[in-house]
Amino acid sequence: MIDLTHDAHVHSTFSDGKHDVETNIGAAHAHGLASIGLVDHVRSDTTWVPDYVAAVRQSGKRAPVAVTCGVEAKILDPTGALDLPASLHGVDEILVADHQVPIGDGCDHPSRIRRFLETGHLEAAEVIGPLLEATARAAERYDAVIIAHLFSVLPKMGLDETAVCDDDIGVLGRRLAAAGARVEISERWQCPSPRVAAILAGEGVELIASTDSHRKETIGIYDYVAVVSRSLA
Ligand SMILES: [Zn+2]
Ligand SMILES: [Zn+2]
Repeated sequence: MIDLTHDAHVHSTFSDGKHDVETNIGAAHAHGLASIGLVDHVRSDTTWVPDYVAAVRQSGKRAPVAVTCGVEAKILDPTGALDLPASLHGVDEILVADHQVPIGDGCDHPSRIRRFLETGHLEAAEVIGPLLEATARAAERYDAVIIAHLFSVLPKMGLDETAVCDDDIGVLGRRLAAAGARVEISERWQCPSPRVAAILAGEGVELIASTDSHRKETIGIYDYVAVVSRSLA
């Protein structure tokens, strides 16, 4: 079962969210949550992390819910390098995002990879292998990792999760569990599936609930995540 009184992934005005940190914390409490993970998008040139950490700490001190301070960064290549600023002082967790496709010695846009797949210039296995490897290696090379919306990039490339076999998900799960990484079940992206969630949980991976909210109204509101949670019971 997944704790539905937590929301691991809520954006604020520090990146592309509509509401500020304080408002999001208030909404989490109003929606009956016990804890919230505040998260904003960073890149290597992001300079506002110290201000963000200070704002989260300030609002978190007097909050009626438990608050953590996270950043979301995209995977840059199959070695699991992330697009992170040099200092993450005060940040509690890193959300690893498959916003692009790790391949070769870098990453590429899913729409471009989709064309390569459609024209036969690439096989599905040639993109899924590096994606799995990058995901595992990101968890191994950084501390306090949460894998965000696992496999959300597959539909953008015209693929779906059925292209990833149980054995490969099992291997990924073992590596994530050994690294202490958690995996979110994403309300926004409706992934990973109950099949993948069950395999990961079976390998000892902690699954956590997330909405990837960009506005206060959707924080902690679960439909898909509740279905996945019940499927694990
Ligand atoms: Zn994302
Ligand atoms: Zn996000």
